[in-house]
Order: sequence, then structure tokens, then C-alpha cells
Amino acid sequence: MNKPLILVVEDDPPVRNLITTTLKANEYRFLTAGDGENAIMETASHNPEILLLDLGLPDMDGVDVIRRIRTWSNLPIIVISARTEDEDKIAALDAGADDYLTKPFSVEELLARLRVTQRRLSYMSAEAMTMSSVFINGQLKVDYASGCAWLNGKELHLTPIEYKLLCLLSKNLGKVLTHTYITQHIWGRSWDNDVASLRVYMAALRRKLEPNADSPQYIQTHIGVGYRMMKIDPEKADADPV
Ligand code: CA
Repeated sequence: MNKPLILVVEDDPPVRNLITTTLKANEYRFLTAGDGENAIMETASHNPEILLLDLGLPDMDGVDVIRRIRTWSNLPIIVISARTEDEDKIAALDAGADDYLTKPFSVEELLARLRVTQRRLSYMSAEAMTMSSVFINGQLKVDYASGCAWLNGKELHLTPIEYKLLCLLSKNLGKVLTHTYITQHIWGRSWDNDVASLRVYMAALRRKLEPNADSPQYIQTHIGVGYRMMKIDPEKADADPV
């Protein structure tokens, strides 16, 4: 498989160099931009397959870059934020980013995020070709048409809300969904106590879905942010560590 073309948007030269050196060493193709306007221009003119986007840019807010790009493109966006920008990170995910890296991050973390995103990309293109109403990920199968789900060939007995959660996560495979995003889709609103109930429903769903509660394979928790369903790599027993 060809390595995807990545647009690196980062105004801080040491961080940009760390990223580009890593990409080069791993034979990724890449372009760079140092501010939001150039990020939008490069995305429009070169059609990169993945965007690595720093949120703190000199000319505009990274969240606005996402909003502008999302008006015409669905390309995966991984945001890079400092720890002090936690709220921005959540705003970025709600604006349509797929994933995030928190500074300072390691080279291994960066590569793991790129692999997750590449798996999502290949899944999305396969999905676009088949238009199937049956979702299969590892040992999990969901038939959206009949409203049934199976694990290891055994039907899962899910409550209506657990099933809705499973559908929402599987239809956004590989993408981090924020608490707000999920509660708005499940309950049509997002109040503080909805986030508390979400935790309860998610715990119940995971008890049915994860054979080993200590090392969940299907659903990742992002503390203070939300949840993500991981793509299970058929050639690899373990999912990427986070
Ligand atoms: Ca910055």
C-alpha cells in the first residue's frame, strides 16, 4: 500500500522538524504549512490524505481551519494541542477532527496515530465500494438492517441505548467521538447528567463487548474527552497501544 501524503501544519520549527524527520524516516510523503491560511490553501491545491494540524497557529484558530476544510473535504484530521488547550481539543473534535495528539508526544505515539488513521482510510474506501449494511470488525458483527449484533458468532443482547451506542461508534470507526457528540446523537441534547449516564451505558456495553475488561480491544476511553471504536487489524492480534 502506498504511504499517504500528509500535510503537516505547525508553526513551531522544532516540533515541525520532529514530525517531518519522523515522517521521512518512515517513508511518508509530506508537505508543510506554518499557518492556517497556508494550511487551507495547501489542502485545496494538493489534496493530502491526512492532515496533522497544530491548534495554536499564528494567524487563526486551528478549530476554524477544521471548520473551513470540512465544508468541502472529509480527509482525516489529527490535531496537535498543548495540554493547556484541552477545551480546544474537544472543540476541534466536535468541529470534525478525527483524532488528537497532546504535546509533548513521542515519535511512537505519532506513528501509532498515523497507523490508526490509515486503517480508517482503508476501511472507509472498502466500505464505500461495498455499501454494505453489515459491519464487521474483528469478532464483532453488526447488521444495521436487522438491528442485531454478534460477538464471536453469538448474538449480543443489547438494550436499545447500548445498540444505538454501538452503531454510533461503529459507523465512526477509528474516530474519537466526544461526550457531547455522543450524547447529542443518543439523547438529542447534552447535559452534564447525560455524560454521567453515558458512562454507565458505556460500561454496560463494554461488559458485553470486551472479553477482557483490563485490556479493551474494541472501545477506547479517552479520559475527559470521549470514546473511540478501534479497527481490529486482522493481521495483528493486538490493537495499537495508546
Ligand atoms: Ca503552535
